Amino acid sequence: MSTVLSEIAVVEAGAVSGLRPPALWVAPEYTGSIEALAQKERELGERLAGIAARFFRARFASSLAAEDMVLTDAILRGTEAVRAGIRVFTLQTGRLHAETLAVLDKVQSHYGYSIEQFTPDAEAVENYLKKNGLNGFYDSIDLRKECCGIRKVEPLNRALSHADAWMTGQRREQAVTRAELPFEEMDEARGIPKFNPLADWSEAEVWAYLKRHNVPINDLHAKGYPSIGCEPCTRAVRAGEDVRAGRWWWESKDSKECGLHEQNIKH
Ligand code: SF4
Repeated sequence: MSTVLSEIAVVEAGAVSGLRPPALWVAPEYTGSIEALAQKERELGERLAGIAARFFRARFASSLAAEDMVLTDAILRGTEAVRAGIRVFTLQTGRLHAETLAVLDKVQSHYGYSIEQFTPDAEAVENYLKKNGLNGFYDSIDLRKECCGIRKVEPLNRALSHADAWMTGQRREQAVTRAELPFEEMDEARGIPKFNPLADWSEAEVWAYLKRHNVPINDLHAKGYPSIGCEPCTRAVRAGEDVRAGRWWWESKDSKECGLHEQNIKH
């Protein structure tokens, strides 16, 4: 078994014979006031209303994980203008966990809303697999980025080809690559504005919102996953570890972006 795969086995199963399983990440408790949270929610509603008022074809790229479910909920329970003006889509990479795919059904039954799915180009995937094997992305950062390029970036480009603005659930606290994340920035590559309405939210605020509004979430969060991407590139996180430590955990912190948010990386 490779180092990468054995690491997954140790953390996820937590059951090496004779050893106690490691304590895994759990969602943090919110210790602020309800009033402060309600104020944050009002500001979020205003941010979304502002985006819907300025743009006709705004798109929200949802990973279906915790932060993105806050935004999904705020959009789908928002004003008519917000619901109609900001469409939610996801990138169905073909390597997602069953628990992540199940969120699509949960959203459908909870909100009566069908999240649009964008899939990778089948020929590009086949060529990559022939050349590099099923899990070639473990072998180098270049091969990992090539896989993300095929399964995420190209479908994202397609999803945004007619958009006049787009939105993500990124937060500043999540990673060193996101420490200076603004609410609004220009996506130079696509020539459209990009919004991060949760940029100043804490992890505890995200979880307080999800509980307060009974938002449907990915079952993996209850199994030690704070951040969720493709199955082979995401593992559970130990208590006290960085919340994105389970994403491409074999790489350095500075390279951990998949190409969707390339501008976060300072060159
Ligand atoms: S996260 Fe992993 S499996 Fe998913 S697209 Fe990137 S390299 Fe490929």
